Amino acid sequence: MEKTLHEISKSLNDGAVTSVEVCEAFLGKTEQMEPSIQAFISVDVEKILKMAVEADSRRTRGDSLSPLDGVPVALKDNIMEEGSVCSCASKILSNVTSPYDATVVAKMRAAGIIPFGRANMDEFAMGSTCENSAFAKTANPRDTTRVPGGSSGGSAAAVAAGEVPAALGSDTGGSIRQPASFCGVVGLKPTYGRVSRYGLVAFASSLDQIGPITRDTRDAALLLDAISGHDPKDSTSLNLESASLADTLAEPMDLKGIKIGLPKEYFERDGLDADVEKVVDEAIAKFKDMGAETVAVSLPHAEFAVAAYYVIATAEASANLARFDGIRYGQRSVDALDLMETYLKSRGDGFGEEVKRRILLGTFVLSSGYYDAYYLKAQKARTLIREDFEAAFEKCDIMLSPTTPTTAFKSGEFASDPLQMYLADIYTISLNLTGFCGISLPAGNSASDGMPVGVQLMGPALGEEKLLSVSHAFETSTVYTQY
Ligand code: GLN
Repeated sequence: MEKTLHEISKSLNDGAVTSVEVCEAFLGKTEQMEPSIQAFISVDVEKILKMAVEADSRRTRGDSLSPLDGVPVALKDNIMEEGSVCSCASKILSNVTSPYDATVVAKMRAAGIIPFGRANMDEFAMGSTCENSAFAKTANPRDTTRVPGGSSGGSAAAVAAGEVPAALGSDTGGSIRQPASFCGVVGLKPTYGRVSRYGLVAFASSLDQIGPITRDTRDAALLLDAISGHDPKDSTSLNLESASLADTLAEPMDLKGIKIGLPKEYFERDGLDADVEKVVDEAIAKFKDMGAETVAVSLPHAEFAVAAYYVIATAEASANLARFDGIRYGQRSVDALDLMETYLKSRGDGFGEEVKRRILLGTFVLSSGYYDAYYLKAQKARTLIREDFEAAFEKCDIMLSPTTPTTAFKSGEFASDPLQMYLADIYTISLNLTGFCGISLPAGNSASDGMPVGVQLMGPALGEEKLLSVSHAFETSTVYTQY
């Protein structure tokens, strides 16, 4: 059975297959894989098949909503889908049904794309392994003793396991790109503001962005086209008309004249695994063979990115998560005797350990007396990092780095050491601090553990077209993805 969105779309439009057949095949695969992978918190079979029947009858009538009418796409469990529980993998929201569709889901439905299941994640998108979910520990389909990455680990694992052709994730500090890298699939973080955040449960509002996790670049472009665009319901949504990105991939781009920046600080790090570096070096050599030119660039303030991110993200999270207090939303403690106890017990029981750690840290860095020392300083570092990136993009079209310093962690490897895990976000979080776009592409496997290695390409604000074209050229000449 065809695997990518564009292949499925072609078969549907040729009449070779129906949406019901497509969805039944993916549901069958999901049933087969879920006992070992646990990529989903829930999959509503009846609802999916009903939408597939509707897509098929539209197609028979000649009324298809788009070429993607009738294809299934999974949703991370922090994206609201009317009528489905949106738990963010948290106990505190385990009984909360979405009263409306997120804009991305409304756009998917307008194109006929079928929301397929609620993908597992780290609670409130805080984490890098999917182990912070209150409900399940997702396994990496390439080696089930390893994590799929996070926080969009369920989305990436579902795609890599063939349970679904594509998924949406959210990326606040790498949560689309890192699990894509760990699972050997493609993950794209769009420029901040390209995709509406309306209906995405907020973690850190100035960093969050929804994006696609797919099997190839063409699908990333197709799905991004389907979900992006101006939304008056999100005040940070960019008001721009964008041509179809998928159309620009009709022919592989000629890479002659393309300048790829290599940030020297990213390659001079102690923590970079030698086998990961080897695969990334081979990718660089491949780009050169294809005619691209590499230039050395410098990001002198990138060393402050992890620290700045964990101050800014936790500060914003402490404010965003204050609304989950057992009164208006979600789980309320039954044995609290007064209002204060209701807050304390509902939040105490409802949030997991990592979420509590971040709320405490975020509250601390915003509190009087510490604001200037931590929050304000982090914002200044953020500006310096953005200026570094802007200066680097004067010298190159895109930049390249590893997506992560290592391949997928073993399950439980960082259970008692969150700081070590935070440090592994070194290559991804700067793009969230700057708001720029990035993609992780499968580039090969580590010689020592056989796990997939992702290469990250970074582009300036609204640089998606070039980012995707360069990615597509790389991918068409070098198919490393294995399923
Ligand atoms: N690993 C990062 C964190 O734990 C990234 C999370 C994300 O992008 N949602 O915060």
